[in-house]
Amino acid sequence: MYRTHKNGELRLENLGQEVTLAGWVQKTRDKGFMIWVDLRDRYGITQLIFDGDRTPKEMMEKAKMLGREFVIQVKGEVIERVSKNANMPTGDIEILVKELTILNKSLVPPFTIEDETDGGDELRMKYRYLDIRRNSVKNNLIFRSKVAMETRKYLSGEGFIEVETPYLIKSTPEGARDFVVPSRMNAGQFYALPQSPQTFKQLLMVGGLDKYFQIVKCFRDEDLRADRQPEFTQIDCEMAFVEQEDILNAFEGLTRHLLKEVNGVEISKFPRMTYDDAMRKYGNDKPDIRFGMEFGELNAVAQHKDFGIFNTAELVVGISVPGGNVFTRKEIDGLIEFLKRPQVGASGMVYVRCNDDGTFKSSVDKFYDEADLKKWAEITGAKAGDLICVLSGVADKVRGQLSVLRMEMANRLGLRNPKEFAPLWVVDFPLLEWDEETKRFHAMHHPFTSPKPEDMGMLDTNPGKVRANAYDLVLNGNEIGGGSIRIHDKQTQALMFNHLGFTPEKAKEQFGFLMNAFEYGAPPHGGIAFGLDRLTAILGGQETIRDFIAFPKNNSGRDVMIDAPSQIDDEQLKELCLKINLPL
Ligand code: ASP
Repeated sequence: MYRTHKNGELRLENLGQEVTLAGWVQKTRDKGFMIWVDLRDRYGITQLIFDGDRTPKEMMEKAKMLGREFVIQVKGEVIERVSKNANMPTGDIEILVKELTILNKSLVPPFTIEDETDGGDELRMKYRYLDIRRNSVKNNLIFRSKVAMETRKYLSGEGFIEVETPYLIKSTPEGARDFVVPSRMNAGQFYALPQSPQTFKQLLMVGGLDKYFQIVKCFRDEDLRADRQPEFTQIDCEMAFVEQEDILNAFEGLTRHLLKEVNGVEISKFPRMTYDDAMRKYGNDKPDIRFGMEFGELNAVAQHKDFGIFNTAELVVGISVPGGNVFTRKEIDGLIEFLKRPQVGASGMVYVRCNDDGTFKSSVDKFYDEADLKKWAEITGAKAGDLICVLSGVADKVRGQLSVLRMEMANRLGLRNPKEFAPLWVVDFPLLEWDEETKRFHAMHHPFTSPKPEDMGMLDTNPGKVRANAYDLVLNGNEIGGGSIRIHDKQTQALMFNHLGFTPEKAKEQFGFLMNAFEYGAPPHGGIAFGLDRLTAILGGQETIRDFIAFPKNNSGRDVMIDAPSQIDDEQLKELCLKINLPL
């Protein structure tokens, strides 16, 4: 037996017991006549003592050879510590070692394996197995496991069954490029890795499984934005004989269960907001509603004077930053520069200081008087001490810019408390989205999403206005889940493909299997998928999903530990009927 106890376990009650422990040497303190070793495993740290008076000389010598991260096994007696450490659960005891076995040596690790490490990101990724020994990473993985377990517990309790769907498939469009896998046995042909199990879960509904879920890897070949991973995990779900309301209730239940079991937070009914309202009030389809700063539209009270910039704008819109009047002129200039960066693209910002005595001082005093500014304050909800920030321009763009400002202000003012949870359903998403690049409408969610029946008539006349039975679950300003009620009849699905620019032949080639299935009694159905990585990160009070993935890829999609992707040899290329080493 390698060990009788784990390293986080022994207490004063165990005094006098003979125990066997195993683990890694976290650190050693060698005072010559006495040596202390901190022995670590997943469960904690136990202090070992080698005492010149009581420990045989050879063992003292052996103990002196121990280096950081050596793997050892010790047998010894639990004794009371002379100087106790109240910060450690095992801080009252130590082990007087009687036998020491070195199970494995270790090179000096390239960074310190402590809570505060000296290792940079790339180095820690390269030696991720060492990084995982650190509490922060280890605890995140334990936390993730808890979220996954609670998900399984809740969903199976609700009658969902977990079904695995294949990874070697044909394209499932979720708006990204496919990762493809060449088939050796079918020369010149390729599988695609699933961007999601979307079509399979729909087929499971046709198959009568009624309630499905799966914790599943999905693969999307996208230009990596910060904190995206080419492979990520979804909690993927589908239900038959449901309307939108049923799905929202079922998965509000799951989210509430997770918040309660994992975070100890009880939240009653989740608020709901339409996509249009979210865009109008927050300039964002995933608003963080832990704080206010709702948009106030100012056209009616800002376009009656000689200020050309506002008069020619489609939208003049502002927010009131609580307590923002403390910002200095220099800080405000900094904000304006921040907004003018190409990533945000604002052309400038008008601001109004709301003084404590109820007067106003604005950057456009030349054009607007106190009575005007008072109206701006009313519409944006500004009070004495606040700062009103106003942007103007093309409506969609300016809303996006103001949303960036709103988030920036919330970050600066510390309004985004990670321990507070504010879920929100955003519903009634548009069915289609115009893509400037391809000059075509694309499915905003995916091509299997059902339009709202009452909007179907507009598909030909005003496609951009058609709403979908699609919804997102937003938590603290992050989209943690999204789904829709699906089309379940062949005609509507064919119509949809047609609107998305598929010829009937192309639609048949790519999705014939689904359209066929719809001819054999497909029930009404719908579902949702949660991003497990992000959900876990947010429940864990953090925003970086990488910290919750055991072996993540870096920002260029590389695994720097195993060095992937990498070239394959000519033999393998030939076998796969791939052209050999085209010049790059
Ligand atoms: N397949 C969708 C996605 O990955 C989720 C869904 O519609 O259920 O976003």
